[in-house]
Parts: sequence; structure tokens; C-alpha cells
Amino acid sequence: MKGYVQIYTGNGKGKTTASLGLALRGAGAGLRVFVGQFLKQGNYSEINALARFKNVTVEQYGMGKFVKGVPSNEEKAAARDGYARLCDILATGTYDLVIVDEGNVAVTCNLISEAELLDLIDQKPDTVELVITGRGALPSVVDRADLVTEMLDIKHYFRQGVTARKGIEK
Ligand code: ATP
Ligand code: MG
Repeated sequence: MKGYVQIYTGNGKGKTTASLGLALRGAGAGLRVFVGQFLKQGNYSEINALARFKNVTVEQYGMGKFVKGVPSNEEKAAARDGYARLCDILATGTYDLVIVDEGNVAVTCNLISEAELLDLIDQKPDTVELVITGRGALPSVVDRADLVTEMLDIKHYFRQGVTARKGIEK
């Protein structure tokens, strides 16, 4: 099957959950699914849920807090290892669906470069479906994609002071 490049971006809720919905669908179809999450560490319920599928792998390349300002050496090292791992995963073609969660944010936080993210897209074997999520997809990334969906923030309870809830946002 031919694989395409999908981007879920924008300020509204649903980017990561859309990619996880696709992971669920792919898992049900017997696809080999790999989810790599930049910036995140632990504490996400999808890890527990997806652990039930033997054809789904989830890895995290963050320190468990959002990068503020200049990333620390620790944050950079975790992202660097994650990026190398994703290159490997793509090159070997051992997964049919590869999801790079918060890949766009990894670029805007200077954890990986724009060129590195573009390289990842270019390395994709023809049969692999690649999904990149995160706010602020750069024009060059949008340009390389076959499908781009922007989640539009019309209303968000975050503005009522509701922070991330277990099972809903994490
Ligand atoms: P989800 O994981 O629920 O699909 P997402 O991937 O679209 O959301 P992210 O940009 O990754 O959204 O970040 C979501 C986190 O940021 C949430 O924990 C949420 O509480 C917080 N947040 C703050 N402002 C907003 C906003 N305007 N829209 C969405 N999330 C917001
Ligand atoms: Mg997200």
C-alpha cells in the first residue's frame, strides 16, 4: 500500500487525539504502528491503552515538561536520541504507520531543526504512512505533506481555567 504524509496542526484541540485514533484504526487493521512523542514523558493514558496491542509501539523523547525558552542539554539530548530512533524506524521499514507526535513543536522549540524534520519526511519509504502532529507546522513541512488538517480553536475550556485532565487531555 502506498503511504502518505499527514500533518495535524492548528491551535484547537484534537491533533494528538486524531493521530491516536489513527493508531487505533491501524492497530485494528493489523498495521505495525509506531508512535514517537517529542516533549512528553510518562503520565499519558494512551500509553496504557496502546500497550494492549502487540503491533503498536510507543516511545517518548521528552523530559515531561514543556520546553521554555532555550532547551536544556538534557531536553536536547532526549530529542536527539528520539530523532535518531525515528530515522532508524523509518529507514528499516519495520512499521507501516509512523506517528511523530509534537514533531512540529520539536522544531519550533529548537529541539530538532527544520531541515531535520524535512529529512525525516524525505527518508520515508514509499509504503510507510507518516503522521506529524503539533501546532505551528512550518510552510516547508506543509509543502511536503499530502494531507494537512488544521484544528481550529473556536472555543477551549482552557480559557475557563480547565487544565489537562486524565483520560481527556492526558
Ligand atoms: P489533544 O492531545 O487533546 O488532542 P492537541 O494535541 O490538539 O490536544 P496540544 O497543542 O498538543 O493539543 O496541547 C494540548 C495541551 O495544551 C492540553 O493539555 C491543553 O490543556 C493545553 N492548551 C492550552 N491552550 C490550548 C488551546 N487553545 N487549545 C488546545 N490545547 C490547549
Ligand atoms: Mg498534541
